[in-house]
Amino acid sequence: MLALTGACQFEVRPRPPAEARAAAQATPAATRSPATQQIPRGTFNETEFQEDLQTAETATDDFWRRHWTELFTGSYTAPRVVGLYDGRDPSSAPRCGKERLTRDNAAYCPSGDYVAWDAHLMRSGYARGDAWVYLVIAHEWGHAVQARLQRGLVSPAAELQADCLAGAVLYGSADDGTLQFEDGDEQELVDAFKVIGDKAPWTKPGDHGSAVQRLRSFSRGGENGVKACFT
Ligand SMILES: [Zn+2]
Repeated sequence: MLALTGACQFEVRPRPPAEARAAAQATPAATRSPATQQIPRGTFNETEFQEDLQTAETATDDFWRRHWTELFTGSYTAPRVVGLYDGRDPSSAPRCGKERLTRDNAAYCPSGDYVAWDAHLMRSGYARGDAWVYLVIAHEWGHAVQARLQRGLVSPAAELQADCLAGAVLYGSADDGTLQFEDGDEQELVDAFKVIGDKAPWTKPGDHGSAVQRLRSFSRGGENGVKACFT
């Protein structure tokens, strides 16, 4: 993500179990997250990165599993999660049809029905804040959802619709209590769209709209839910 600036500090963290929450509330704020506070900004924590990837995948999958029958006919099936790949080593990148996935990209592959993300894209975004991986994963999962729907339901502006679905999933998961937003998260997501704009390599060039359009679409899904992404 060469277009990223260093301005983003994202915190979209899973909601801790009730016991942990109660304990946290009884603890002064200054000592609440010692592990986080000891890590200087910009330092990469591989363990937390892997945990956030797993949490984002699980929360997104759970959201669709929980809400599918309210929204659509049929039953939900998850795409396969290929997950991290090394786009700088073309011989090891996953195949999608006749092509291999490319560096600094993330994708839903229709023919293989899988989602995957380049490790460098994810690590470089994550170094600026963990919301990045939630946004990318919820967006790519949105493409898997699009592929499960009748053609007529899918917006021609598929990238904007995937952004809308990502907003619906992240805010919907917060409403459901499976993800917890913390102070500043919303501004940080706004900043994420400012920096990815229409230059993000993980979206198809040309058809995904400007930063303003993308944020508007994400917010529409966040405020009004999945159905708003199909009107
Ligand atoms: Zn996309």
